[in-house]
Amino acid sequence: VQNDEHFDMLSEGFNDMADTLQARIQELDEVSEMQQRFVSDVSHELRTPLTTIRLAGEVLQGQKDGLSPGQLRAVEVLGTQVDRFESLLGDLLEISRYDAGRVLLETEPTNLVHLAHEVVEGLQPLSSSLIEVRPLGGYAPIDVDARRIRRIVSNLVGNAIEHGEGNPIVVSIDSNASAIAITVRDWGIGISPVDVDHVFDRFWRADPSRKRTLGGTGLGLAIAREDAAVHGGTLEAWSRPGMGSNFRLTIPRADGISAFMSPLPLVP
Ligand code: ADP
Repeated sequence: VQNDEHFDMLSEGFNDMADTLQARIQELDEVSEMQQRFVSDVSHELRTPLTTIRLAGEVLQGQKDGLSPGQLRAVEVLGTQVDRFESLLGDLLEISRYDAGRVLLETEPTNLVHLAHEVVEGLQPLSSSLIEVRPLGGYAPIDVDARRIRRIVSNLVGNAIEHGEGNPIVVSIDSNASAIAITVRDWGIGISPVDVDHVFDRFWRADPSRKRTLGGTGLGLAIAREDAAVHGGTLEAWSRPGMGSNFRLTIPRADGISAFMSPLPLVP
């Protein structure tokens, strides 16, 4: 009898705990939903005044004959900052879509070797680094959201250019029966072991003082990792200071990801 009583007390205790937990989870869900909606609303709201500012800047630029060199420079700065602001809003909206689980993949059979070539052809003219595409496989089309995969690869190559110190960059595409991997290797400044865990964090930057002068929002790799995950894939980094970095995107063909050969060695 005593055992039964203990059992009843225990199960009552567990039920209370389960109820409290469930209520707490629901509260948390509501808070995070409010937060997502807030970010998304603010981003939308800021779009309109930003468009007005852009238009006003364009009007001034159209009358540049009447402007002093100083005024002209101010108009240029205005244009650059409006561009940055717009890309930040775009990134914030994308993050809030991911947080809300409101991301719809538009997949199509895509040749990732072609995609890598396209991205590199677009970025090569902007960089003094020689960017090589090295296909070790991966010609067979794979069903992906090409816009999102292009965004990941552009981001990785863009970062390799930015932190690559002008050294060559290699984009390799590797494939096996179950997955395709795209690896972007640079021989630039690299990332410290402590920092490498944070590169995918939102707004994280190794050198915070650079954030105001350079482009980029600090959301690039955070979004890239979401883009990879929504394909059931992964995005990982290997890096050492002074030895450059490897960033690898792996996309499964069907279920499961198998191992690839180790990334290009971290030697100068
Ligand atoms: P952003 O480029 O806008 O700063 P990202 O999310 O793309 O944002 O990158 C976050 C940070 O990770 C960068 O600011 C930089 O410090 C570091 N990082 C990314 N790629 C590399 C790389 N290839 N080499 C060294 N550092 C990198």
